[in-house]
Amino acid sequence: VASASASGVRQVKLDKQCELRIVVGRESSLRLRLHTGTAEIFGTEIPPEKWLTFPPRIKFAVFSIYGATIEMDGFTETDYIADETPMISYINVHAILEEQRNRAQASSSADSNSSQGPRVIVAGPTDSGKSTLSKMLLSWAAKQGWKPTFVDLDIGQGSITIPGCIAATPVKVPIDPVEGIPLEMPLVYFYGHTTPSVNANLYKVLVKELAQTLDRQFAGNSESRAAGMVINTMGWIEGVGYKLLLHAIDSFKANVVLVLGQEKLCSMLRNVLKNRPSVDVVKLEKSGGVVLRNAKVRQKARSYRIKEYFYGLANDLKPHSNVSKFSDFVLYRIGGLQASRSALPIGAKPAADHMRLVPVNINRDLLHLVLAVSFATEPDQIISSNVAGFIYITDINVQRKTITYLAPSAGVFPGKYLIVGTLTWLEN
Ligand code: ADP
Repeated sequence: VASASASGVRQVKLDKQCELRIVVGRESSLRLRLHTGTAEIFGTEIPPEKWLTFPPRIKFAVFSIYGATIEMDGFTETDYIADETPMISYINVHAILEEQRNRAQASSSADSNSSQGPRVIVAGPTDSGKSTLSKMLLSWAAKQGWKPTFVDLDIGQGSITIPGCIAATPVKVPIDPVEGIPLEMPLVYFYGHTTPSVNANLYKVLVKELAQTLDRQFAGNSESRAAGMVINTMGWIEGVGYKLLLHAIDSFKANVVLVLGQEKLCSMLRNVLKNRPSVDVVKLEKSGGVVLRNAKVRQKARSYRIKEYFYGLANDLKPHSNVSKFSDFVLYRIGGLQASRSALPIGAKPAADHMRLVPVNINRDLLHLVLAVSFATEPDQIISSNVAGFIYITDINVQRKTITYLAPSAGVFPGKYLIVGTLTWLEN
């Protein structure tokens, strides 16, 4: 079935509870419209008769509960209809979450426990469909008028902002299958690396920080509290990844843990959480439609995501190239060796201090790095501060002491502190 399909408008009939799985061709976009019936893309209803345009390479599915006819115009790399999907079980999860939201809304908002809606965490290996399920649950909730909070802890890909970050944003309308989530000031913390092992302690600190900030926001907002959260996690579920998953469940006080397609992870979680009757661990089947991505494809996806940040989704924004003096910025890296050797007993090696702020000299080693612009106004606030955005270093002139960088807009920097990680990007 995986063949390039011909161009020209084609009609596809979707029987009830079936889905049409599509990978758009590499070269050109695909136009698609709903001709009859009703259908949705990852939880967001498709408007009738309106042609929608999907960019090259995008992977998605059109699901219909009651049946539909779809029209397509353009090349696909793959398109086929699947009559076996786990969608009904996902919809059933949504129904249970809706009950919890209704109960939370009905209870007195003075009781912070009973007025808290579901805090769902989605776990599973890479390519199990975690981000997709998160988006569906959020879109279905938004369609019912809730404003659930999307929390993305996946530093490997990033559905809210660029990779290497953890972030949260309210979802007020069903998520657009092409445009993604509209970004009105998401709450973003910069970890700076795309794997957790680089500095697992820092990851934990940032997760705690994000959870506490959301708790404070929710305390004054019964609407957000009742709508609850959907938390997407990263695909590392062994070793340190597993520990970080448990840490996230605790930090966000998750009460529903959805495990996608992994028996072992599910039974491990059931076992450690068995003394907490307030937490439900639910095993869900992985969709056969989830497309496997190898390391190279994932690296590419990260790169696209960073490009999208600076150039816009359709490559239609022009980022600002700026030149600043070295003295305009102060750069820090988080994590390094313990302070001074002289303070240690003779012969002792300095230990790693994962939370240490290490000043970074400006030189050509910074070329092609993506740095975060902190909201901090003092160095000791850097670790606990969220970030305003990112810049991309395109040139360093050591003689003139100038930095040339891209920023998405000419916007003012909230401060002079920049955070350096290992996140790089090669503009092509
Ligand atoms: P994870 O978050 O577990 O790594 P994703 O949810 O990002 O996995 O899914 C991986 C890819 O598969 C994404 O490009 C997504 O659009 C695609 N995908 C997910 N579910 C389906 C489906 N049912 N049909 C077609 N493509 C799908």
